[in-house]
Order: sequence, then C-alpha cells, then structure tokens
Amino acid sequence: MNALSELTVAELARRLSAWGISDTHARRLLRTFYRTNELVQASDAARFPAVLLERVRSELPLRSTTLATRQVASDGTTKILLRLADGHTVESVLMPDFRPDRSAGCLSSQVGCAMSCDFCATAQGGFQRNLTSGEIVEQFLNLRGEAKSIGRELRTIVFMGMGEPLLNLDHLLPAIERIGANDLGGLGWRQITVSTVGIVPGIDALTATGWNLHLAVSIHAPDDSTRARLLPSGRRYGLDEILAAADRFQVRRGRPVILQYCLLAGVNDAPGQAQQLADLVGRRRMHVNLLRYNPTGMGLRGSAYQPSTDQAATHFAGVLKDRGVVAHFRRSRGPDIDAACGQLRQRFATAPG
Ligand code: SF4
Repeated sequence: MNALSELTVAELARRLSAWGISDTHARRLLRTFYRTNELVQASDAARFPAVLLERVRSELPLRSTTLATRQVASDGTTKILLRLADGHTVESVLMPDFRPDRSAGCLSSQVGCAMSCDFCATAQGGFQRNLTSGEIVEQFLNLRGEAKSIGRELRTIVFMGMGEPLLNLDHLLPAIERIGANDLGGLGWRQITVSTVGIVPGIDALTATGWNLHLAVSIHAPDDSTRARLLPSGRRYGLDEILAAADRFQVRRGRPVILQYCLLAGVNDAPGQAQQLADLVGRRRMHVNLLRYNPTGMGLRGSAYQPSTDQAATHFAGVLKDRGVVAHFRRSRGPDIDAACGQLRQRFATAPG
C-alpha cells in the first residue's frame, strides 16, 4: 500500500475521487502533512470532512519508514537511521548552522551505492536499491522535525548521503519537486544541492528541469587516471566531459557549480596537482570545496588512505587561491558518530526478521 509521502497532489486527488470525496481537499491535506509531519493537527481537523480523515487513516499510511536510531555528535550533528518497509536502512544527517536558528540536512538517495568510490564507507556495502520518492521525502520531514525540536529551521538540504542521486532520477526529481514546491515542502529550489560523482546524462537532466538548484560535482583528482583509481565511475565519464556538462548547467542556471575535492595524503594533494586543478577550473566561475578525509578504514581496493597534513592542505589551497580559484575548506560534521562525508553506511542487517 502506497504511503501518503509517495503521492503527488494529482495522485491524491485521484484517490479522493475514487473514494467519492471531493478532490479539492487534496492539496490542503498534503500541505498540512508536509508542514506538520502529521495527517492533521487537532486544531485543523474541523477544516476537513470527517469521512476524508477516517478514510485516509484506515487506508493510507502517512509514511513507510520508521525511526530506528538517532545519534547526536559532540558538535550537535544528529544522525538519523530510518528503517524502510523492506528492512533496509538509510542514514540522513542534520547539521546545525553557525547561525543559532538554522540547520542543514544531508539526505540519501539510494540504499548503498554502486559507484565504488575507494575511500567511501557506503561503497563497502554495495548497491541494494533506489529509494522511492516517498522515502526521500520522509528523510526531509524527519530532519525538519528534528531541527524544529532543537529550535532551528531546516534551511538547506544536500543530496550527499548514501548513493548517487543522479542514478535515481525517476524518484529523486519527483521528491525534489514536492520538497521544493511552495505549496508542499516549501523549501525552495535555491536551498537544494544535488551532489554527483559526474553522471553526465544526469547533470543534463537536472539542467533540463529548469529548477534553480545548486549542483556539486565530486572530482577529487585533477586528471583522469588518478581519478579512475579513486572513483571507478571516472572511467565512464572523463573530466572534460563532466566539466562540459557542469558548464551547461552553470550557463543555464546561472549559478556557480561547486567542485568537491577530498584531500588524500600522497594521492591528490601535491602542489603540482593543485596547479592542474587550477588549470581545469580556469576561467570557469566554479567554486572548489576542499574536504578533509574522514577515515573509513581500509579502502575497497586495499589502500589505507590518510588525510592530508594541515601543511599540505594549506599549501594546496594557497596554490588555488594564487591562481584566482575560489576555494574553501568544508568543515567536517559529526565524525565522532560516523556522520561525516563518506562515513554513512547501513548499520543493521538488511534482511527483515
Ligand atoms: S562517495 Fe558517494 S558516489 Fe561514491 S560510493 Fe560513496 S555514496 Fe557512492
């Protein structure tokens, strides 16, 4: 049975009509659910026909996931583990902003991941399945409720959790549409970032939506051969091809693409590699986010990666800045509960009891 979180306004309207109830209630009912994470609050109940609420309560579960665990890190980052109806689990993360009333969310798009990035914990469990649009929406609603419970507002979300979002477009785009739309999730396109390892057709599909989203591309190396060692998906699309797609996004959407670069000692952090990266960025107005490596144990192919030293990382950033590239270090959030980038994974056995 589909949960309410899976439905668009049009789908809910059709369901109401099939029940012989006016479909004019569909938008308001769904909006209330997105606003409160409940079907209806007691103070609102009188606004809906009793027969409608009864029918929904008996035939349409609100959500299909349940909260399995919740962990809070020393820096206030909260990691939520949701159990899906089939027993799989996914993680999403709430990160408090430096502004006291705001926070940001990191959402997963797949159970596991097929991209096999060598330094990523998610990759170690392999790919299980795509998340449905409702499972993605439910992560958003949970994080929004979590933020509210600590007196903050969930202001931005990024699809940077488990999985490659652009390999799950069929469910990702409808979920984003409902989360971003003014009359449902109300987050707004500008508050949403999609992060990819560089799936070129997916970047073009995102460009074609016309939504004013942010795009982040994980490149992690300035040349194709180093990149292919770290991200096997790099063999499928070369950096030139990926950056050309990112250029198309930037031109159409008018907002700088973010290039993510995780600094690994002795692998991609040499000054010469910073020069190569600066050459790649060239006149593009793209921004570089430099990430500190969060140890995940042995890589998939047996390499034991180490984060760059502070000295090497500072020098790398200095070379970029001297060449006119806008580069920032991104703060690691929640590493003590394995909530930082690349550390998310399935925690529990996936087979239902
Ligand atoms: S870094 Fe992202 S794309 Fe790569 S394996 Fe991990 S979850 Fe997948």
